[in-house]
Amino acid sequence: MTLDSKLGQIKGVGGETEKLLKHLGLQTVFDLIDYYPRTYKDYSSIQKIIDIAPGEITVKGQFTEVKGRYVRNGLHITQGIISDETSATRVTWFNQPYRATHIKPKTNYYLSGKYDYSKNRYQITNPSIELESNFNTNTARIIPIYRETKGLKSHSIRKFIYECREAVGQLEEVLPPVIAKENDLYPKAKAIWQIHFPDSAESLELARKRLAFEELFELQLAARLNKLANTSLKSTQIKFDQNLAKEFTSSLPFELTNAQKKVAWEILQDFEKLHPANRLVEGDVGSGKTVVAAMLVHMASNANVQSAVMAPTELLANQHFESFKDIFKDLGVKVALLTANTKNDDLLKLIKNGEVDLVIGTHALIQDKVEFKNLGFAIIDEQHRFGVNQRQALKKKAKNLPHLMAMTATPIPRSLALTLYGELDISIIDEMPIGRKAVKTKVYTSKQRIKVVEKVQKQLDDNHQVFWVCPKIDADETWGSAEVAFENLAEKHFPNNYVALIHGRMKSAEQERIMNEFKEGKIDILVATTVVEVGVDIPNATAMVIESAERFGLAQLHQLRGRVGRSDLDSYCYPITDSSPISQRLKMFEGSNNGFELAEYDLETRGAGAIFGTRQSGALDLRIANISDRKMINAVKNAVDTLIGSGDYDSKSVLGKRVEELRKVTKYN
Ligand code: ADP
Ligand code: MG
Repeated sequence: MTLDSKLGQIKGVGGETEKLLKHLGLQTVFDLIDYYPRTYKDYSSIQKIIDIAPGEITVKGQFTEVKGRYVRNGLHITQGIISDETSATRVTWFNQPYRATHIKPKTNYYLSGKYDYSKNRYQITNPSIELESNFNTNTARIIPIYRETKGLKSHSIRKFIYECREAVGQLEEVLPPVIAKENDLYPKAKAIWQIHFPDSAESLELARKRLAFEELFELQLAARLNKLANTSLKSTQIKFDQNLAKEFTSSLPFELTNAQKKVAWEILQDFEKLHPANRLVEGDVGSGKTVVAAMLVHMASNANVQSAVMAPTELLANQHFESFKDIFKDLGVKVALLTANTKNDDLLKLIKNGEVDLVIGTHALIQDKVEFKNLGFAIIDEQHRFGVNQRQALKKKAKNLPHLMAMTATPIPRSLALTLYGELDISIIDEMPIGRKAVKTKVYTSKQRIKVVEKVQKQLDDNHQVFWVCPKIDADETWGSAEVAFENLAEKHFPNNYVALIHGRMKSAEQERIMNEFKEGKIDILVATTVVEVGVDIPNATAMVIESAERFGLAQLHQLRGRVGRSDLDSYCYPITDSSPISQRLKMFEGSNNGFELAEYDLETRGAGAIFGTRQSGALDLRIANISDRKMINAVKNAVDTLIGSGDYDSKSVLGKRVEELRKVTKYN
């Protein structure tokens, strides 16, 4: 048997079973031994029978009086007594008639299972039993539980993996020896064996550590190799022009923050290189990413290089269009908007002839009919909403590869970024424009909603506006549904104000109309789903109410909160939660205005899914590693540095073959 053997070659695996295994995605011996347990049951502590208490237990003893009989309705019962030197207890199996004939007298067995009180006596029900003299896969150890399928239970999978024990020994080492040694890692074969049949809790932990390290190492290495490969690609060089930079900054009604200057400068330096920039810019909502992007677009356009901004929604594309037009009004940069709703052949011609410097759009930008004369700078807003294919499609519109800048308001903890975005350079705008006041946050329970209504009334009395965000559109009768909240607010609580509703199921023209009315100050309260999550800029909005706040990740809550406090007015955020007492997480949110701190907290307590919201969680399907294990992620980074620094990476090695495959699927652009 080799690692490539089909599973039909395993003793006990017939055609039917082979099909079931295939159902689990397993076809070869390698697939099977690489199938990590989902969880474990600890049967490793062997107790004296006199000591056992109700619960999952393991004992060792010999059987007497094992007898089977059919009772009513074809139900079969096997009963026996197991005894050790301290005591004896009853054992019962249902519908396992072979037990009575298989169990040998005067022979030591391990028995693991549930001990409890039923039908007026204590007994062990339906336990697994194995001869003491055999290697045990179901008893007397920490036993693995696998993801199962109908007709194929964990005990069978255990048996098959045990049958492959010699093939496990054939597994080749993946990690370079220096790195394994440096990090005290088990050899691969040992780790795989111990992940299925651990000798102890400690060896299970070490097996996990070894396999997690390998998983993260391959991911980070793939990203770094992709990053290195990017340096040999050719882009359109854009020379830095100091006078232009000055012209730009002096046209602004404000001074750039130091953080904005620093980040702009990082990308301006990227522009001067011969290979394309590949950079992620992170900055809290309101930190001023748009102006930074505009400064770069200005520099590009003066070098006769066109730029494109791709935004995830029409609403955002429209808003960007307005902002950029405003910024460029005296600078001669020609801006155009292209969405599914702009059916303008003339515009397409202008873009193709290079008479437009900056095209702002949605996915519509990547349609075949959109052609550029000289696209050299691509900006992706809220990048986590786009997939590789969309980024690639945009880049393909350029003759040389364009410089790529992705912008996000999601604070991505460094550990996460290393693994997910190791291919990108990262810039962080870690400072807010002066004059911005921190948004005051206070969490209320749903029983206290009337207090929030009063607070909101005060804002309206001062002629300010309010967002009221709900997680769902219409799912039920509670305030968590935007339609219900809208009715309650419009009819009961604020009959004299203009309350409006906006959500993603409305036509985009309708959304736009409502957004414009809100911008113009006509709407007092805007009840919304998370369509307002990113990008919307309404300086006169001073309160953000968030219904069912416990459903949102902290990073997402923080982004919502960033919709207010966009001027020098005092602003407020009122999350409302159904859970009482108020959770630790929401208290944390109340107490912190630091997006990175909140994201770190969520990463640790709820995993990466909480940071990007449900849309993204698929991208983080790690098999065994924990994406919030900062210590390991740093160790892995050092290991990747070591390997790359040594020049010993070999794409034809066992590691190399795996990593080269991974590079293709994880490539950022
Ligand atoms: P975001 O990072 O959320 O995209 P924007 O770029 O939309 O932020 O900027 C938010 C607001 O702050 C805009 O109205 C913008 O004009 C303003 N702004 C940006 N930079 C500064 C600054 N340095 N000083 C004052 N206001 C600024
Ligand atoms: Mg923005």
